[in-house]
Amino acid sequence: MGVLRKTLNWYARLSPKHGASAPPFSHVVQIGDPTLRTVSHTVPIEKIKGEVVQNVIKKLQDVLFRYGSVGMSAPQIGINLRIFAMRHTAEQIASVQPEVAKMKGMSVVPYTVFVNPVLKVIDYQKVIHTEGCESVRSFAADVARYRAVEVSGWNAEGEPQSQVYTGWPARIVQHEIDHLDGKLYTDIMDRKTLHCTCWDEVNLSKGKVAIPFAPESV
Ligand SMILES: [Zn+2]
Repeated sequence: MGVLRKTLNWYARLSPKHGASAPPFSHVVQIGDPTLRTVSHTVPIEKIKGEVVQNVIKKLQDVLFRYGSVGMSAPQIGINLRIFAMRHTAEQIASVQPEVAKMKGMSVVPYTVFVNPVLKVIDYQKVIHTEGCESVRSFAADVARYRAVEVSGWNAEGEPQSQVYTGWPARIVQHEIDHLDGKLYTDIMDRKTLHCTCWDEVNLSKGKVAIPFAPESV
């Protein structure tokens, strides 16, 4: 922790409520936050279209887009409700080498919200790929996930919805539903593969690198 960051943290603590805003946050909480270890509550169906839940869904979308992520769960913005949002755009997939995108089974997923999702495994074969999490910032590790799953639940309009996902989208939904159960990928990762995603930058800059934390897209 640098002097500047220490000073900024000190200023933050001087402001009311330690500078913290009330959830749903506009930032992503980090590993260590008790919210990430809490089993989230089921959303009463009749409340989905209500102001409180709609506000959480709107904030989830804002943060998902601003962080440039493919998935985001309500606990990650400080709310222990069983809601997640996902999307994988053609632009996001194009930023990955084509052979890698193919190997990982990536495909375009339109913006989708699931409320009270229930997972059913369609293909019990597990696939191992490197996975990261916005709540475990600047780290990644190998994680085994089922190849195909079906997710059933409700959409943001409170209508029932069900969808089968295969490959990378199946990984996204398993990761997000784990969040709703208070689990992180670090619980099931191959521990020897855990790595700092900018470890080579650290060497190239002789240690003078600021590990990115703020959203890259802002
Ligand atoms: Zn995550």
